[in-house]
Amino acid sequence: TTAASPEEQPRILLMGLRRSGKSSIQKVVFHKVSPNETLFLESTNKIVKDDVSNSSFVQFQVWDVPGQIDFFDPTFDSETIFGGCGALIFVIDAQDDYIEALARLQMEVTRAYKINPNIKFEVFIHKVDGLSDDNKIETQRDIHQRSTDDLAEAGMENVHLSFHLTSIYDHSIFEAFSKVVQKLIPQLPVLENLLNILISNSGIEKAFLFDVMSKIYIATDSSPVDMQCYELCCDMIDVVIDMSCIYGARDDGAFDGDSSAIIKLNTNTILYLREVNRHLALICILREDSFDKQGLIDYNFGCFRKAIQQVFDIKKQAAAARAKTNATRAF
Ligand code: GDP
Repeated sequence: TTAASPEEQPRILLMGLRRSGKSSIQKVVFHKVSPNETLFLESTNKIVKDDVSNSSFVQFQVWDVPGQIDFFDPTFDSETIFGGCGALIFVIDAQDDYIEALARLQMEVTRAYKINPNIKFEVFIHKVDGLSDDNKIETQRDIHQRSTDDLAEAGMENVHLSFHLTSIYDHSIFEAFSKVVQKLIPQLPVLENLLNILISNSGIEKAFLFDVMSKIYIATDSSPVDMQCYELCCDMIDVVIDMSCIYGARDDGAFDGDSSAIIKLNTNTILYLREVNRHLALICILREDSFDKQGLIDYNFGCFRKAIQQVFDIKKQAAAARAKTNATRAF
């Protein structure tokens, strides 16, 4: 099976003040730690390269920004760090006073933008589980206003920030990460199109392409996403991984290339999971009677999987060709 090579995988940098929740996010999304266990995490105080590259489609690093401003921190090689990164997520603790965080946000965005204007800037307004619904909206409005004003003042009005309300205590953190990752996948329109073709020819209602390790969905068909469906799929991945860990033939408990699982719900609905490659799995939601044609679905899935492999292969070949040209030029 093929998987994108590290250079092509989406790279994400997670930044924010101490205690804003960065390590918790990292643990919950990429290491299956339960939210309550993060209460006892040691706070990060340096750059942490999280090596999830073998197990996950997404690559990312965590960087703690200290409270006081230090432009000459020698451990922070901004060229390398911002140069190779696709998205910068800045985490703000919404349960705390965020004035200082906003100052840092503005500083980091300015610094990063100067080095790499292609970075996508994403602001996670985090720990919103402690806020009422009205308060959430008000906080988002306030942070949005202040941060865009700050940027305009600094003459950076063309820099775009996206905002997400997040918490590790529900699926919002996975949803937000999914949106961030999707922006970094150049093949997204092709993937969406393939999913549309697959579902319309197989009597499927909704399909998600998941990064299994992180439960981030990297693409879905163009029908609207219902949070409950997404949550069901996330739960299914947890169940399947737990089962594979206990009964799977391989030591690392991962999928073996042909894993599949079927869950029947008492609402006449079926969840059908099929592995696509080492990192990715397809989860379909369909009515029970449509599943009578499982042979057809499986056949269509085979075509879908082949197409996905080609999509990522083409990109790899292009990267190899580029590398070759560059090498010739250097020579
Ligand atoms: P870091 O220094 O940015 O890495 O922050 P930590 O990940 O160590 O988190 C600091 C504290 O915030 C920990 O006690 C976490 O349990 C807590 N925390 C993290 N995320 C959330 C969240 O979504 N909601 C709430 N209520 N607490 C959170």
